[in-house]
Amino acid sequence: MATMAQRVTLIPGDGIGPELAEATRRVLDASGIDFDWEVVEAGEACIATHGTPLPEPVLESIRRNGVAIKGPITTPVGAGFRSVNVTLRQALGLYANLRPARSMRGLRTRYDDVDLVIVRENTEDLYAGIEHMVGPDAAESIKIITRAASERIARFAFEYAVANGRRKVTAVHKANIMKLSDGLFLESCRTVAAGYADRVEFEDRIVDNMCMQLVQKPDLYDVLVLPNLYGDIVSDLCAGLVGGLGVAPGANIGEHAAVFEAVHGSAPKYAGMNRANPTALILSGVLMLRHLGHADAAERVERALRDVVAEGRATTADLGGPAGTREFADAIVARLSAGEPIAATA
Ligand code: NAD
Repeated sequence: MATMAQRVTLIPGDGIGPELAEATRRVLDASGIDFDWEVVEAGEACIATHGTPLPEPVLESIRRNGVAIKGPITTPVGAGFRSVNVTLRQALGLYANLRPARSMRGLRTRYDDVDLVIVRENTEDLYAGIEHMVGPDAAESIKIITRAASERIARFAFEYAVANGRRKVTAVHKANIMKLSDGLFLESCRTVAAGYADRVEFEDRIVDNMCMQLVQKPDLYDVLVLPNLYGDIVSDLCAGLVGGLGVAPGANIGEHAAVFEAVHGSAPKYAGMNRANPTALILSGVLMLRHLGHADAAERVERALRDVVAEGRATTADLGGPAGTREFADAIVARLSAGEPIAATA
């Protein structure tokens, strides 16, 4: 009996997004899984055609398919539109932002054995977008932290740790200063941690100290769970530890849908130049394959990508290589095509 193709929403995005999405689609098509891509457009160009950078059919497609992979989308500065990325996460209840940071052989970095997983709360904190002017010369942004969202993200971090054989979860906060909001986040993490005490170690760190420790001793840490803003900043720091934004993948996961995307943005200055590094989006595709239950295919794609990076002959300029986005993808596809066929493990 023929198996059903795996239907996935594909959002090419802005700037370098379309070329990275194309490279990623080609690599995932070579993984042995039969994908049926539903391509939908979001981003700057949609403002002229739809009056919004996030047309409703995009959300409908993701709700229908339950899974999407997305190129970066430019946030127009001061044009009156909220970030498409933040809106997507909130509209679809994608409450957990998972950002693994793992060293890759062949990249020049300070450490060669970093293996961290950042779990960032994705729906509240200062990203709730509640801002107003207080008179003409002062502005106020409101930081929202709730027990429900904090316990939910802590549970996600511990469940991830258990499912992936991780030993420790560290909660990151500034509860010494923001005693109520960050205090509630920390208290919620402690409550959830108590239920996992026999399986996963728990500790907490103040965010500034955490940044210093990650730069000096990243091997001391494993899974980090953070409120939205610290998660955004600390995950870029961790990306820097393993080779930069070009290699940092991410996943936004909710109860009913998941959207996979690189940590980096649309890097407009490189748009259309066949220069951008597709690694981060391809690794986001690897996270998507695992999420869909295709562990073997995920393993194969990741191995092929890591081999090409380690060899260094077909990587992009940011990794010190001579190749373009397309040629980088070609090398990964060639490696996948030469390998053993795999069984789909849905
Ligand atoms: P950026 O991540 O787009 O680029 C910063 C720099 O990092 C680039 O100039 C480039 O030197 C490097 N870089 C990033 N990705 C790379 C890649 N794949 N290959 C090689 N080099 C790469 O950050 P920015 O310039 O601050 O943001 C540009 C736009 O992207 C903004 O509108 C921002 O709002 C948006 N953005 C979108 C997302 C998203 O869609 N999830 C995330 C972050 C930023």
